[in-house]
Amino acid sequence: MRRLIYCSQACQDFDPDLLVDLLRQARATNERAGLSGMLLYCSRSFLQLLEGDEDALAETYERIRADRRHTNLRRLLDAEVSQRLFPDWSMGFDHVDDDELAQDLPGYTPATSYPLMNPDLITDGKVAESLLTLYARNKIR
Ligand code: FAD
Repeated sequence: MRRLIYCSQACQDFDPDLLVDLLRQARATNERAGLSGMLLYCSRSFLQLLEGDEDALAETYERIRADRRHTNLRRLLDAEVSQRLFPDWSMGFDHVDDDELAQDLPGYTPATSYPLMNPDLITDGKVAESLLTLYARNKIR
């Protein structure tokens, strides 16, 4: 089993309707492929964790990478793991606002653009994993 985390920059503002479309699409496909994970969106940036079978993960990431709705994808983690962090979620989701991030991420100032892909803040996969796990608690499933 593999876990992959990447961050990316949205090419447009994602309003709630667009996010719902995206999640519906992702959840249906992930369920069929046996993938689970968590997606954060904040100020036109995405942070996503995906986990499951290696081949299914590679195929899905190729599709995500080619998606013109976002750009500048940066892979933060791609590792063999023994168990899932999000076994029950075909794709958990949270739309984080600037104030929440400022509270939870030391060093973050709300003026930062694309905060979830800022390498000074999300320094590596472990920081990303912690942030995703933090927001996964009590959030939309
Ligand atoms: P098609 O449906 O044939 O679409 C081709 C292209 O059209 C896409 O690449 C995209 O650029 C564009 N497109 C597709 N739908 C829309 C739409 N509603 N509005 C505007 N443009 C559109 N897919 C998963 O299966 N699992 C995931 O976990 C997942 N996470 C994602 C996370 C992010 C941040 C983004 C941006 C996309 C994610 N997707 C996910 C969607 C994925 O990128 C593909 O769009 C989807 O899997 C369908 O692939 P397809 O090859 O059938 O594309």
